[in-house]
Amino acid sequence: MADIQSLEQRLESITVQDENYDSNAPAEKTKAKGTLATAPSHSTAQSRLKLPLQKLPANTTTNKPATANQLNPVPTLTKITLPSQAAQQHSQRTSATNPASPDTDPLALPTLPKQPTLPKQFHLGMFEIGKPLGKGKFGRVYLARERSTNFICALKVLHKSELQQGKVEKQVRREIEIQSNLAHPNILRLYGHFHDTKRIFLILEYAGKGELYKHLRKAQRFPEPLAAQYIAQMASALKYLHGKHVMHRDIKPENILVGLHGEIKISDFGWSVHAPNNRRNTMCGTLDYLPPEMIKPGREENWYSEKVDLWSLGVLMFEFLVGEAPFEDTPVMTQRRIARGEMTVPGFVSAEARDLIKRLLVLDPAGRIPLEEVERHGWVLRHCVKGERHFQRTSGGKESGGKEKVERG
Ligand code: AMP
Repeated sequence: MADIQSLEQRLESITVQDENYDSNAPAEKTKAKGTLATAPSHSTAQSRLKLPLQKLPANTTTNKPATANQLNPVPTLTKITLPSQAAQQHSQRTSATNPASPDTDPLALPTLPKQPTLPKQFHLGMFEIGKPLGKGKFGRVYLARERSTNFICALKVLHKSELQQGKVEKQVRREIEIQSNLAHPNILRLYGHFHDTKRIFLILEYAGKGELYKHLRKAQRFPEPLAAQYIAQMASALKYLHGKHVMHRDIKPENILVGLHGEIKISDFGWSVHAPNNRRNTMCGTLDYLPPEMIKPGREENWYSEKVDLWSLGVLMFEFLVGEAPFEDTPVMTQRRIARGEMTVPGFVSAEARDLIKRLLVLDPAGRIPLEEVERHGWVLRHCVKGERHFQRTSGGKESGGKEKVERG
């Protein structure tokens, strides 16, 4: 309970007013609790249909267009800390062995998380900018090196005018607030952020192997051992998130990056919410991955919880193994099929994998297999060798009994 309260207090108190907002405008300082962004998350995959966010009266907060004031920074830089890679690896190792420890769990602490190095005030001149890594809807991402520490990272550059135009300042703010408080090997780290007059810079963990989506398109579908390792890592990351009362709500291959060692990293927290009461009532995300309870929002019984991520995990698993999402169709038909849970798992998918998909894609959110059981499912255990369980252990998952040796992607 203390955990929930401290996280809530922190999310209430943390704002990016120091970079985006006039500190003399108190009304803008405090983030409205429960407000959600109003535009789809940015993804490079143009082929995927995006559902426009539909705000519902019950949960609607006024969505005023951003004032020029909001994007006019005070000329100070945000105090942030950029850990060295060694420190970062150490923190990942520590969280791997003791995920719930207050030392490794910044969200469990009422005070700011322990930082491996002294706080620094960052500015662009401190980074050597390398090759472009990609382009999203609102900015570009570059490989970068922090000069004094040689720390390699990805620098995401967001243009304030574009955020303002797209009315996504709140979404970005939420993304920064949530992501900077998460530390898990399968979740992309956000080390800090700073700004200049026109841009916001996010210092992100570098995911050396790029987008999972591209790997999937290239491979068409993943072999079951690899898919199982990915699903185990996803389950571990989601368990960690849900333990912090954060639901991602936009799980799909486009929002997953791959680290240098082939480990997956959930990114793009634009749609995630911190919801301690576990109930939100807003429609967002990508159509193919929407769970049935989000198809018809607006009524109490359609409110949804972090179990939306379980459904999306089922869709993800299906797409990993089959190469396309289970309800892919025309938009109207996709919605209809999701609402009925109408899908067919092809015969080439193993019986064990089929079983897990069916346990995740359950219409009633309460009937979906819990993440702990996903980690212990026979299909996952079969394909994850002991050494590969590192990523699962981080969230307190049980040791695997599975011994089969598999290749990593
Ligand atoms: P985004 O604006 O977050 O959608 O990022 C645009 C593209 O940049 C992504 O699709 C990736 O290809 C690439 N990218 C973003 N963040 C990273 C990162 N941390 N490491 C490596 N590549 C990244």
